[in-house]
Amino acid sequence: MSSSPRLDASFNGAVRHLIVVLGDQLDHGAAVLRDLDPELDAILMMEVDAEAAGSGAGIRSHKQRTAFFLSAMRHFALGQMDAGIRVRYIKLDAPQNTHALGTELKRAVRVLSPKLIRMTQPGEWRVLDEIEDAAAEADTELEIVDDSHFFTTPGDFEKWAKGRKSLTMEYFYRDQRRRLGYLMDGDDPEGGEWNYDKDNRETFKSAPDIPSLYQPQTDDITKAVIELVEARYPNNPGSLDKFIWPVTRDQARRALKRFIETRLDDFGPYEDAMWAGEPFLYHAVLSAPLNLKLLNPRECVDAAIEAYRDGKARLNSVEGFVRQLIGWREFIRGVYWTQGRDYRDRNGLKQYGDLPEFYYTGDTDMRCMSECLKPVIDHAWSHHIPRLMVLSNFALISGVQPRAIGDWFFEMYADAVDWVTTPNTIGMGMHADHAVVGTKPYSGSGKYIDRMSNFCKDCAFDKNKRVPDDDGRPPCPFNTFYWDFLIRNRDRFRDNNRMAMILKNVDRMSDNDRTEITVHGRKLRKQLGIGAISS
Ligand code: SF4
Repeated sequence: MSSSPRLDASFNGAVRHLIVVLGDQLDHGAAVLRDLDPELDAILMMEVDAEAAGSGAGIRSHKQRTAFFLSAMRHFALGQMDAGIRVRYIKLDAPQNTHALGTELKRAVRVLSPKLIRMTQPGEWRVLDEIEDAAAEADTELEIVDDSHFFTTPGDFEKWAKGRKSLTMEYFYRDQRRRLGYLMDGDDPEGGEWNYDKDNRETFKSAPDIPSLYQPQTDDITKAVIELVEARYPNNPGSLDKFIWPVTRDQARRALKRFIETRLDDFGPYEDAMWAGEPFLYHAVLSAPLNLKLLNPRECVDAAIEAYRDGKARLNSVEGFVRQLIGWREFIRGVYWTQGRDYRDRNGLKQYGDLPEFYYTGDTDMRCMSECLKPVIDHAWSHHIPRLMVLSNFALISGVQPRAIGDWFFEMYADAVDWVTTPNTIGMGMHADHAVVGTKPYSGSGKYIDRMSNFCKDCAFDKNKRVPDDDGRPPCPFNTFYWDFLIRNRDRFRDNNRMAMILKNVDRMSDNDRTEITVHGRKLRKQLGIGAISS
């Protein structure tokens, strides 16, 4: 692979089709690339401050997330050049860079005079709007092509969703299994069950011995990008000291192989478990290369099923992995495109608190929070349970505004792209979408965290208390906020059958108990910088 100075000599000749490739569209097999004529067409790739520093939405991107995107983009562009494709590549520090996708696209149209702009459907409404506006202003036809990386198009999902009273992922997933034929035994699911989650709730009794993650060598391109990001965005969150991401297709495939061979078998049973100092456990850690399209979900599913057929991975692990790829990931994308542009601002529970600053530093006495924030700060990643049941749960029950935690997930995770981050945070995590994604909030007390991890053992807070008492050790904030959340939403959840049991416990409390929790919750919010919940 050549080094990145070749990217400085951007292609400037006339073209027939201009193929726009964004940072999360690095799919070598994309339909827009298959149709490309090297003699007539060219690719446009753009590194712009508006996306690299944060997003056009005005938020700050984790330094490692930015470096990952930029390095993967540069490797992809050089690979295309090596294959004889002409690439107009606008580097972040190029002197004429206007630092917005729309204006860079218009500039490219002025220079290259294409008859047609083609691109794969972007992963964000905002980017789609910006590209469409720029093409219209440049008076050039724009063709948006369905993203062949996915198993379903937004149109397919819309058809599936039409007429349904509620959108249940499990039913979507079963239809995907039947349609795609994965893990099927005739018309029945392999092994007789559609879902083996009941076997996937193991916890660790002692420190687990986890096989190492595949970590590629940091080459000159990645080193240059790391220096650039550090110099250009010194105040952005996160660390670049431990860069872990595969930045080429070849590296991503090695990461997949390592997972299949060394961690997949134990993935299922321990997929919900957490352990201090072990952020990766048996997880695939492939969401970031998948979301940049360095990996195709079909090859991941095929490799996992092959391991099962060869007796190298148990069914509950393989089924759980396949479900994430053909079920949850596709379902969430369908929700994103069918729910529309305002989805990210939904606030069904009417919460308006601020996000505490420790989400960016990890500096808190709550051991669960500091343990779950550390890998986010160090690597721009954590697995789904720290995301959902610790970091998002805390924001939900403490009264943080959904958009504030949604933006944080977008800023801080290497795999964050709007189509996946927004429904996962606004819908699933914050229950703010009027129950489109989940019929019940993912709220939990310290009891859940204690059951699934070893975090509570050495915590400054008392996992058994929800309000202060005379012995001095403060109560677990998750307990206080969990019961405070239920008390303040009691009427709202009254008609929800799935909440009936837990609300009975709230009803059984004395007025005095409820008041004590409410008062302590208010005090805690003030101490943590969350402030008032109501607007
Ligand atoms: Fe977290 Fe509470 Fe456990 Fe401390 S006691 S680790 S704050 S759940």
